Amino acid sequence: MLYVCVLYVCDWLYSLRLSRRLLRAYVPLRSAALVLTMASPVGTVASLFPMFDSKDPKKSCEEKVRRSLERCGKVRFLVEALEKMGCPLPKDYIQCAECSDENGACRGGFGPFGENGQTGIVICQNSININEGEGGAGQTAVDVTLAHELIHAFDHARAKVDWTSARHHACSEIRAASLSGDCDFKREWDRFGGFRDIRARHQECVKRRATLSVSGNPNCTVDEAKAAVEATFEACYADTAPFDKNP
Ligand SMILES: [Zn+2]
Repeated sequence: MLYVCVLYVCDWLYSLRLSRRLLRAYVPLRSAALVLTMASPVGTVASLFPMFDSKDPKKSCEEKVRRSLERCGKVRFLVEALEKMGCPLPKDYIQCAECSDENGACRGGFGPFGENGQTGIVICQNSININEGEGGAGQTAVDVTLAHELIHAFDHARAKVDWTSARHHACSEIRAASLSGDCDFKREWDRFGGFRDIRARHQECVKRRATLSVSGNPNCTVDEAKAAVEATFEACYADTAPFDKNP
């Protein structure tokens, strides 16, 4: 199977670190965890509907992932695109986990989980619910983050991506930031309290967020990340596959 995942804000370095940790503590995702479990008739309301139990971030995250896979058109389209390429997502491919970056800016990741290069997606259960100021929270954050990581998976499936190359990584980050919805009008508005030129602002946002992600790649410096984003921006921003146009 030939696909890999990538990261988000904290992309590369973070994902590798997380991957090793998850690998050690790996517990096969219980499918029941992603299914609405109806509790016993004597349970409380909270136990009857554990997906609404905000005290359990993992359950809450897993429920949002399940909902995203079912209802988010963009996420479904990307999963179907991978299936059409002969790369259906294996069970356990998407997992919710506690992410330990200092500022809580990391909402997800894509990276290798196994010694033989299998890949996977992580959704950061502790940050998707609190980052109101940095691009939304809750279900929207999961929808956008999942779409972002699935675009990396799509790129990995369709091309021989060398994730140690700043330019390869930059191209995928540009596409992920542009197509996932991360730089949509409302999200940028929320970040900065309004803006003037929508198209220019979208491009600026994509460059900023792609540079941030590539900067986390241990194989390049911040200056190299900036240069790689600039060098690949035009071609990769215009590449909207598997969508006909920017959705
Ligand atoms: Zn990314």
